[in-house]
Amino acid sequence: MKTPLLDIVKARPLIGDGAMGTQLMLAGLEQGGCGEAWNLTHPDKVLGIQRRYADAGSDCIITNTFGGSRIMLNRHGHAGDVAEVNKAAVAIAREAFGGKPGYVLGDVGPFGGLMEPYGDFTEAQVRDAFNEQARALVDGGADAIIIETMTSLEELQLAIEASKAAGAPCIIGSMAYDVTLDGSTFRTMMGIDPERAAAFIEEHGAHVVALNCGTGMEMERARDAVLRYRAVTSLPIMVQPNAGVPKLVNMKVVYDESPDHMGCGVVPLVEAGASIVGACCGSTPDHIREFRRLLDAHLATLSAGARA
Ligand SMILES: [Zn+2]
Repeated sequence: MKTPLLDIVKARPLIGDGAMGTQLMLAGLEQGGCGEAWNLTHPDKVLGIQRRYADAGSDCIITNTFGGSRIMLNRHGHAGDVAEVNKAAVAIAREAFGGKPGYVLGDVGPFGGLMEPYGDFTEAQVRDAFNEQARALVDGGADAIIIETMTSLEELQLAIEASKAAGAPCIIGSMAYDVTLDGSTFRTMMGIDPERAAAFIEEHGAHVVALNCGTGMEMERARDAVLRYRAVTSLPIMVQPNAGVPKLVNMKVVYDESPDHMGCGVVPLVEAGASIVGACCGSTPDHIREFRRLLDAHLATLSAGARA
């Protein structure tokens, strides 16, 4: 039997995967199209992307279900396909490993709106949507659920509860931070700082504290976040920074942090306490290959040192 994710991260750091959204665009998904529907309509394209990540050395692959809740799918007329979209996504991610051991993390992204009294969605609607998605991911056989790009603790809580109710074997709570205008610190769009988020994630029974995406959260800032998490929690930490800040070049969104540049931050992240290092928007299989190479070199040096 495969070692559970929560056990393996105690033994060694793992490499996550890179971006899905920007890779789907490269594969032909139009701006504003429903990337999650591709799990049913273009499974070969999704598999191709994830297989490149697995081949580059990802230990963990995140399902193509960021917008896979009923509320998000409804915008594209796919509200009736929640279970199929999410189960197919788990199967594709599993297939990407090609029989190698690896961990499939079922992705739950924000529901994409605001709850009452600020917005139009009731708490019950959001809860139902997360419950339905989490159940499909767990039924599909995901090794964990990653609740990603969260900015609000209320929404995060509903998604954690849904993951628990679905029986997820491991729950990862991942926040998106933005660097403040004066550059002195970072917090989520809803004003949550990393200490508060980590304490909240732990209190509510999730198993891994994480951060992904955000604005201005490059590898060095992500390292600050890991240190701030580590100061308040002993839970494993996962990190997935963007490949820099998006820039508009010839009407195309470009992320400009190269694999080399981002790679320099990998070992410092692990030394600061990160157990899983992947990357978010704009990253590619080349980024992940470089992360893998640098982490393996670092681990080899450590074990040579331990033998000497
Ligand atoms: Zn991102």
